[in-house]
Amino acid sequence: MTGCVALVVAAGRGRRFGGDLPKQYRTLAGQPILRHGLRAFLDHPAVDAVRTVIHADDADLFAAAADGLAVLPPVPGGDSRQDSVRLGLESLESLAPQTVLIHDAARPFVGPAIISGVIEALESVPGAIPALPVSDTLKRGADARITATVDRQDLWRAQTPQGFRYADILDAHRRCAGDSDLTDDAAVAERVGLPVALVPGSEDNLKVTTEEDLQRAERRFAGGDVRTGLGFDVHRFGPGDTVVLCGVEIAHDATLLGHSDADVGLHAITDAILGAVAEGDIGSHFPPSDPQWRGAASDVFLRHAAALVAARGGRIGHVDVTLICEAPRIAPHRAAMARRVADILGLPSDAVGVKGTTTEGLGFTGRGEGIAAQAVATVVLPDPSANWLARTGPPR
Ligand code: MG
Repeated sequence: MTGCVALVVAAGRGRRFGGDLPKQYRTLAGQPILRHGLRAFLDHPAVDAVRTVIHADDADLFAAAADGLAVLPPVPGGDSRQDSVRLGLESLESLAPQTVLIHDAARPFVGPAIISGVIEALESVPGAIPALPVSDTLKRGADARITATVDRQDLWRAQTPQGFRYADILDAHRRCAGDSDLTDDAAVAERVGLPVALVPGSEDNLKVTTEEDLQRAERRFAGGDVRTGLGFDVHRFGPGDTVVLCGVEIAHDATLLGHSDADVGLHAITDAILGAVAEGDIGSHFPPSDPQWRGAASDVFLRHAAALVAARGGRIGHVDVTLICEAPRIAPHRAAMARRVADILGLPSDAVGVKGTTTEGLGFTGRGEGIAAQAVATVVLPDPSANWLARTGPPR
């Protein structure tokens, strides 16, 4: 007699998802969505076997998705999810498991804690499902107008795997065959009066239903190596009538002296980005002794730093700079500076911070001898050690 079998339901056509491929076979973090779930159950010590219910047309897709995994041969599903589960349960009769965990293939991030919680609950109740309390206020609506506010007290969001004693849920499904309004297996159990416990679910155990869900899952779980870099620069004032700050020309009663255009803001941001990827400083890439940088527009330096990040497969997450001076005033130019920096780096404008401050008349900036700038930059580099896939082991 077998202890616990996971029954993964992957027979759907994923019509809400669009595209040619059923959603459970779409790629997430380099592997089919279905494969993530299969591996979660195979890796759990209390799960003895894993069976998948597939659509009859998907045999080749399944073979590729489960390649090399020690799962049972798949069985074909039926016209509805409920039919597919019943057929999957029927297929386990010769194994006669004590318990079965019925799981939606579209939940690729089911973790060991949820699986353990469901299995443990089955020691004292015939059924158990992971669920989360509803925290949003619920509205009933029609024609985009609220018709009522629904009391959320005692309301839960049901997840999978939903666990049952095998004989009980097989019997329940047989008795409910033909009822078309049951959207999960707990509802089938409820229909025949089986008690079902609620155990803690997880926000991580999300269901990939839409393209947006898939993108969110990629962002959340395929992360990266997040680095922060710091930059600081000072240029002194000299005779002149304009300064260039963060790529914007501003009329002033002095100019900033330097080898290039002396854009103290862009220099600080450039050093912050270089610092985040440990690529030295602006002077090591653009030596002041090199005549080709005389009077250069400083966006050249910033673009170079961004190119170094891109060359490593990384991306700049955000930059933030503070310009420190008594004059000129920064506020009137702040939006233009942020737009210019965003434009140079190819960032959305809300990923660039530009701020001005004074030193209350103190120090060299207070005496109007020059301008200082401080910057930070966040860079995200691809890093296998921060990748969800890598944490769960190499593809099998
Ligand atoms: Mg400088």
